[in-house]
Amino acid sequence: ERKKLQRLKSVAAVTLDGTQIDLYANIELPEDIAQVKESGATGIGLFRSEFLFLNRDDLPGEDEQFEAYRTVAVKMHKLPVTIRTFDLGADKSLKGSEQVATNPALGLRAIRLSLAEPKMFHKQLRAILRASKYGDVRILVPMLSNVAEIDQTLHYIEYAKQTLRDDKIQFDEHIKVGGMIEIPAAALCLETFMRKLDFLSIGTNDLIQYTLAVDRIDDAVAHLYDPFHPAILWLISHIIQSANRAKVPVSICGEMAGDKQFTRLLLGIGLQQFSMYPSQLLAVKNQILKSHLPDIIPLAQKIIKTDQPEKMAALLTKLND
Ligand code: PEP
Ligand code: MG
Repeated sequence: ERKKLQRLKSVAAVTLDGTQIDLYANIELPEDIAQVKESGATGIGLFRSEFLFLNRDDLPGEDEQFEAYRTVAVKMHKLPVTIRTFDLGADKSLKGSEQVATNPALGLRAIRLSLAEPKMFHKQLRAILRASKYGDVRILVPMLSNVAEIDQTLHYIEYAKQTLRDDKIQFDEHIKVGGMIEIPAAALCLETFMRKLDFLSIGTNDLIQYTLAVDRIDDAVAHLYDPFHPAILWLISHIIQSANRAKVPVSICGEMAGDKQFTRLLLGIGLQQFSMYPSQLLAVKNQILKSHLPDIIPLAQKIIKTDQPEKMAALLTKLND
């Protein structure tokens, strides 16, 4: 089976009816690129940059970050490299930070922390912008909950650009800025978000956590963490369809994208960009190659609409047959 999948590495991810699908990789550190190459991914859909900040006593400076981002951009040879600004806080706290938030997942994390620590954010933005000269680098902003956060982020990006111009350092003036849709409020206000962002990426891990009020790292409630909950499927479908209608590129970079039992369901609701761990990519591609969208779409629509678990399970079996 592994060998069979291995042969798909350089095969284009196209459905039986000829729809081209983008299969991107999630990475944590530049070292992961070797595995990305093995997987045949055609870009990086999620570079979890916070891993550069973890397990150490100091913070990575602008130059160190620049080297890391540039390495990835160069090694990907002009394929898309989506760098998520640090998603620290919650389960990924900095060493030494006396975070005593009672509710870390609802606290000062991700873009909230970036906006509260503008100097740290500025260094990262400059590092990413400098790396953008070396490939197709994009900026992805995690945990957006309102439009003001987008405005402030764009303001900081513009300021970082201005300082680089002043320093006569080159960067991609047209760098794309996207947002993660992983808080239900963002999904519900998508129209206003889309007017300000170049692309969207759905973080299903957090979207499930926040929609169902289930802590994603608490084993005691793990049985309630349900990607098939009708509310989750409805939200994901709403995001994808709204984005497709507005012609704003949308991907999923949460665990659902790399789980082959969801591949056809996601294709059927209109997803054309998936980002996942490199080790999952060929199995997902295998599903895509065997899928015919005109057959899948009606079944996927039925699954989204049903609220009976047994019916859903039966439809899903049929879909994945
Ligand atoms: C997500 O929330 O789905 C996601 C991709 O981000 P992370 O898992 O790093 O929170
Ligand atoms: Mg997330």
